[in-house]
Amino acid sequence: MKNPFHVMLIPTLGCPGRCKYCWSSEEGSPVMTIDTVRATVEWLKGFRSDRVTFTFHGGEPLLAGADFYMQALPLLSEGLRELNPEFAMQTNLWRMTPGIAEILAEYHIPLGSSIDGPEDITDSQRGDGYFEKTMKGYEIAKTHGLLVRFICTFTNKSMKHRKEIFEFFKDQGFDLKLHPALPSLRSENPREWALEPEEYGELLVYLLDKSLDNIGRMEVMNISDLCRCVFTRRGSVCTFVNCMGNTFAVGPDGSIYPCYRFVGMPEWVMGHLRDKPSMETLMQSEPGWLMRAFSEYVDRACKDCSHIRYCRGGCPYNAIAPTGGKIESVDPHCTAYRRIFTEINDRLNRELFDSPGMDMGGFGMSGSKKQAKPGIMALMRAIVER
Ligand code: SF4
Ligand code: SF4
Repeated sequence: MKNPFHVMLIPTLGCPGRCKYCWSSEEGSPVMTIDTVRATVEWLKGFRSDRVTFTFHGGEPLLAGADFYMQALPLLSEGLRELNPEFAMQTNLWRMTPGIAEILAEYHIPLGSSIDGPEDITDSQRGDGYFEKTMKGYEIAKTHGLLVRFICTFTNKSMKHRKEIFEFFKDQGFDLKLHPALPSLRSENPREWALEPEEYGELLVYLLDKSLDNIGRMEVMNISDLCRCVFTRRGSVCTFVNCMGNTFAVGPDGSIYPCYRFVGMPEWVMGHLRDKPSMETLMQSEPGWLMRAFSEYVDRACKDCSHIRYCRGGCPYNAIAPTGGKIESVDPHCTAYRRIFTEINDRLNRELFDSPGMDMGGFGMSGSKKQAKPGIMALMRAIVER
C-alpha cells in the first residue's frame, strides 16, 4: 500500500539536462540547505500522525550532493521516527556516484528515472547524450543494489514510435511507467511536444492490450494503477484522488506548496516552514482554497460520469495551472481517462458475464473460454500476487 501522506522535497529546481518539453527546471535555482531539512522535521512533528513518504524531486535532486543526503536522511528518519518515514527519489541519474548510491542504498530508496525509449528517441526529446549519461548512472545504482524504474514521457512525436518504445522497455527487462508530455507553461509554443488527450487515450488502450499480452513478463505501471482504480472503485494514485491535504512539496527556500508541480510559482505558496503552519492554516491559504474549490467543482462537473469515484476529475495542476488559477474545467486529460476507464470497465464486465460459472479455468480470460488472451481479472490476479 502506498502511504497517503506524501511530502516532496525539492532540493533545487536546477537541472543539468535540457529536455525539450520540460516545464519544471529553473536555471540558477538555489539548493536547499540542511537547515531547511531541519525545519521540515520541526514542521512535521505533530502535523500528522500517519506514515509519511518523502520523495526527493526536482529539478535534479542529486545536484544537492552526497553531503546533503548524508545529513538529510538521518535527520528525517530519526527526527520523525514516529511517522515511519519511507523515501523515494526521482532523478535523471547523471550525478549518481558510488558515494551517493551507498547512502541511498542504506535507506532502501527506490529511484525513478526517465528515458523515453531507445537512445535515438530519448536523445531527440531530451537532448544529445542524455541516454548515455542516464545509463551510466543506472549502472552505478544497480551495482549498489538500488531499485530503478524508468518513466517514459510520450510526446506527440514519440507517440508514433509506441511499438518500438514498448519493445525497447520489454527487451531491457524494464517495467514501464508513462507520462504524457504536458503543455509547457514556460515555452512560447506550449503544445509543441504535448500529447493531446485523444492521443493519450489511444496510447493507454494500446498499452492495456500490451499489458495483457505480457502478464508476468512486464508491467505497465499506469495500466496496473488504472485497473486497480476500477476494480476497487477507489483512486490508487494521486491523479485520481483528492490529493490536497495529503500531498505537499517543500521548495529549496522552505516554501510549502500543494505539490512539486507548483514549486517555483509564487502564487502557489501555501506557507513557509519557519512558521510551522498547521494543516488548517495551509488549507486556508489561497492555494489551499483553490484546491478545495477544485474538488467541489469536480463534484458538480463530473456528477454524471460513472468514473467519478475513482477519477475525481484528474490532476488539479493540469486543470488550474494553465489558466493562471481560474477553475474552468477538470483535468484536460479527461478524454483519455474516460476512454481508458470505460474500456477497462467494459472488458471487466464482459469477462464477468461471459465467464461460464466463473470457473478458474476461464476466469480472467477475455471474452469467451475460446479466447486465450488474458483479461483484466488475470491482470488483477497478477498484481495481487506481486
Ligand atoms: S497536483 Fe496533480 S501531480 Fe500533484 S499531487 Fe495532485 S494529482 Fe498528483
Ligand atoms: S473521466 Fe472526466 S468526467 Fe469522468 S470523473 Fe474523470 S475527469 Fe470527470
